[in-house]
Amino acid sequence: MKKNTGSCLCKQITFDVDKFQGLIGHCHCKMCQKFHGAAFSTFVEVKRIDLNWLSGDDLLKEYRADNDTVRTFCSCCGSSLLFESKYNRSEESIEIALATFDSVEVVHADAHIYTESKADWFNINDNLPQHRQYRR
Ligand SMILES: [Zn+2]
Ligand SMILES: [Zn+2]
Repeated sequence: MKKNTGSCLCKQITFDVDKFQGLIGHCHCKMCQKFHGAAFSTFVEVKRIDLNWLSGDDLLKEYRADNDTVRTFCSCCGSSLLFESKYNRSEESIEIALATFDSVEVVHADAHIYTESKADWFNINDNLPQHRQYRR
């Protein structure tokens, strides 16, 4: 079985994931745009117990936003790593920024979400379903 392993930009934080859970969405909300410094974020959901820190977990830093979501990043290089909402807390799951994986099983995003706040300078050019807000 192919291992899903990832790291932050400075490579001090490394992790692996036993298996993915649920859906993978491109999120166009304004908070993801700010946090990633990009047009959108792509997060994959995993169960908390399936995420293992291999190194550098003492460098993890959290930012809790006004809407009670928590974003985790590397305090050395600033890489965006995790997202957690109330939904995730009730499911004992966490969302991991898919782009931080160095080796990953074949997965595909299945939707665009929060397109109501999509950046004007970015055009969606695929046929994935688009949701103005969250899809669940
Ligand atoms: Zn780092
Ligand atoms: Zn978002």
